[in-house]
Formats: sequence, structure tokens, C-alpha cells
Amino acid sequence: MADKYLELVNHGGPKKLAKALGLPRPAILRRYTSGDPLIPGPLLLLGDSAQASAASELLLGWGLDVRRHALAGEKLGAIVLMLDDAATPADLSEPMLAAGAALRRLLPGGRVLSFSRPAAEADTPGSAAVRQGIDGAVRSLGRELRGGATANGVVLHAGLGIDAPSAAAALRFLLSGRSAYVDGQFLHVDSDAGVLPVDGEKPLAGKVAVVTGAARGIGAAIARTLHRDGATVVVVDVPAAGDALAKVANEVRGTALQLDITRPDAGRVIVEHARSRHGSLDIVIHNAGITRDKLLANMDAARWDSVIAVNLESQLRMNDAFLAAGLPGLRIVSLASTSGIAGNRGQANYAASKGGVIGMVAASAQAFARAGGGINAVAPGFIETDMTARIPLATRTVARMLMPSLMQGGLPLDVAEAIGFLASDAAAGINGRTLRVCGQSLVGA
Ligand code: NAD
Repeated sequence: MADKYLELVNHGGPKKLAKALGLPRPAILRRYTSGDPLIPGPLLLLGDSAQASAASELLLGWGLDVRRHALAGEKLGAIVLMLDDAATPADLSEPMLAAGAALRRLLPGGRVLSFSRPAAEADTPGSAAVRQGIDGAVRSLGRELRGGATANGVVLHAGLGIDAPSAAAALRFLLSGRSAYVDGQFLHVDSDAGVLPVDGEKPLAGKVAVVTGAARGIGAAIARTLHRDGATVVVVDVPAAGDALAKVANEVRGTALQLDITRPDAGRVIVEHARSRHGSLDIVIHNAGITRDKLLANMDAARWDSVIAVNLESQLRMNDAFLAAGLPGLRIVSLASTSGIAGNRGQANYAASKGGVIGMVAASAQAFARAGGGINAVAPGFIETDMTARIPLATRTVARMLMPSLMQGGLPLDVAEAIGFLASDAAAGINGRTLRVCGQSLVGA
């Protein structure tokens, strides 16, 4: 399952050989470890927008070494581009070229981040054009980066400043090692809802979280990450996975609930378990999912219907039960997939279910917001799990190499980190959105 090529070309003799032969050498990504600095070096803040001085203040408040001009030859941990005032295409030239001039100085694991406004809220075609153009420019810039560095953006909706809790939290998440496999993505901050955690190391302290499909793979990684971040975790999986589920529950000192989520009363059973064993239910992660791949031309009803039933219909039904149960502040994160965005040969059923998740979260956002909560999705690309281990080895190796800047699949932990962020109260201003965790590739499960 592990990416042996990545391990090989980063150590000893094979590393030198790969270098001499000019073979692609994917970097070991900078992942979050408690106590590590937020970024690996000084931060260059570019642009004179209305939000630039607030951004500078915020970053200095985090103890970062903030520069308004790069010193000659100095290596950089991050470049932040303030583009929130860009109103005409000409406004992009100066800041983008300044970022370009500094790119070669970005340290391995460095970050480029833009702040912009949504194209949909622009008042003229010209300002919509420049706002949408920023997405293309930042994504392209991301594809030039090497050494595990990434480029992403925060999109601030009308009236919001960088001091909105979710804008600050998104900035921190995207700078940190928690976003190692998030590349070429834009986090939209829709409102000033949200509160920053008292303890940044335990952002989920006091929360009760349910993770479905947690006996293995991404679900088990989510359970571990939410536990690490302070939550009490209930792990859910089918009875057949009971032994593995009990092990995960023990590891995270939580409780196990053996339950097939396609049962009509699954939502009620989950609420009852969380309330009776732990006193509340604050977070639900809809992770359980299956694939039954077949070309549509050869598809049978059993394959089609089972994928839709597990991956989508069960979530719609459980969400109705959660709304009916009146769970104040409930935050939900659902697993979509890049297949649901770009499509994937042989996965029409799966892509229908995962595209369906993206539609479901967008349409459910207001209902959960009315109860003080929210719902978002994470769309993983190619993640190294049992699910992707079933892809033939040659296809898997080529798929990893096709990921232009990172050249590797992600780890379950990378998906779990994004979910941990979206499940936190600090992300309450982000609602109905889908965040891709895909290393800027659309190949995935
Ligand atoms: P996995 O197959 O390793 O694990 C899925 C878990 O869900 C299993 O433990 C399984 O028993 C459980 N499950 C299945 N049906 C269930 C049901 N009816 N009730 C309760 N539990 C059930 O999968 P994974 O790779 O860890 O993927 C987790 C999620 O991430 C899925 O929703 C998947 O579609 C999504 N995803 C994965 C990838 C990837 O690259 N691995 C990419 C995109 C999206």
C-alpha cells in the first residue's frame, strides 16, 4: 500500500541514483507535528490591499517573522498575496510578478497563499474576471512548486475581513503542516461565525464526535486525529468489522457502535448512543463508503443501488434524523471524492454518489446553520488505503506520478487533518463547501 518509490528516492544510494538519472523525486511532505513552527521560515506579505495591515498584525501576533519586502537571498517559509482589492485585470501584474520573483526562495514544505473576493459577488464583469483569474493563476503557480510546497487561497465573502474567525483559522490551517496534501484549493469564508480555540493544540476539546466507517483506512485515521485534537470519539462500522472497530475504539479511548448505516433508523441509533454514553453529539463525520466499479455499459442494479444506498441515501436519511433530534451546533463533514467532480471511468455509480454528496452539503448548509452548526465535504483524490490498493500496481504508480507538483498519493492522515479543521468551531464561517484534498490532481478513488 505504501509508496515504495517515494521512500526509495528520498534515502541513501537510490536517492543519489535517482538524482543522477533525472528521475522524478517526490518530496516527503511537511506534515503537522505538535510543537513544530507553523511555517519553516520567514513570511513575505505582498500587496497593499485594505486587509494587508490586518493580515500583518494577525501574523505577527502568531509570532511569525513577517516581511513586506524580501531580503536578498533570504529563504522563505511562506508568501501571502493580498489580492482582496483587485478590481481590474491590470491589478494582478505587480503582486503576481513579485510572488514569482520570490518563488525560488521558498523552502521545502513552504506555502503560497492568496486572499481574494468571490467572482460571484463582483459588481462588474472586469472585477469578476480578475477575481476568477486569481484562481487560475494560483493553481498554476502551485504546479511550479517543488519540495512539497503548495499554493492555496482564502476567498473572503462581502463585508468580511481577515479577522473573521474562519478566515484566520483557514489561514492558519493552510500555512500549517495539517494541509500537507491540500494544493491548488480555495477555502470560501461565507460568514463571521466561529470562535478560535482556546488551546490551539486541542481545538476539539469537550466535543463528542461520531465517525462512520472507522474500522480501517481513512475513517480510522479520522478517529485518531479527532482524538488527538481533544474530542471524545464514537467509532461506527458494520458488525462484520467488529474486531477491527474495537481496536480503533480502544486506541482512541472512545466507544464502538456496530451499525450498518443503511439501516433506516441509523441516525436515531447514533444520536441515542452518543447522548446516553457521552452526553451530547457535536460532530458527525460521514466517512463510510464503498466502491463497486464497473463500466456503465456492464453495470447491474446491485452494484449501482448499493453504492448509492451506502454513500448517499444513508447520509440524507441520517441528516434528517440529526435535524429532527435538535442537536445545537452540530458540525457535519461528509466524504466526497474527486471522482464526483471530474468523473472516473468505471465509476459512474460511485461518482453519482460522491457528486451527490457535494450537492447535498451545499443544499443542507442553511438548515444546519439555523441550528448553529454547519455541513461541509472533503473530496479526497488518490489516498493510499485498502480502497486504492485494489487499483492495479502500474495504474497506481502512473497515477502518483501524474500529480504534477507533489508526485505522490496522499495519506489517510491528510484527509483526516482537513476534516478535523472543518469539524472545529473555528471553521463555522465555512458552510456548504467542498474542499479537495488531492495534491492538485483529479485522479482518485
Ligand atoms: P475503506 O474501504 O478502507 O473503508 C471504508 C469503511 O466503511 C470500512 O471499514 C467499511 O466496513 C465501512 N462501511 C462500508 N459500508 C458500511 C455500512 N453500510 N455501514 C457502516 N460502515 C460501512 O475506504 P477508505 O479508502 O478508507 O475510504 C473512506 C471514505 O473516503 C469513503 O467514503 C471513500 O469513498 C472516500 N474516498 C476514499 C478515497 C481513497 O483514495 N481511498 C478517495 C476519495 C474518497
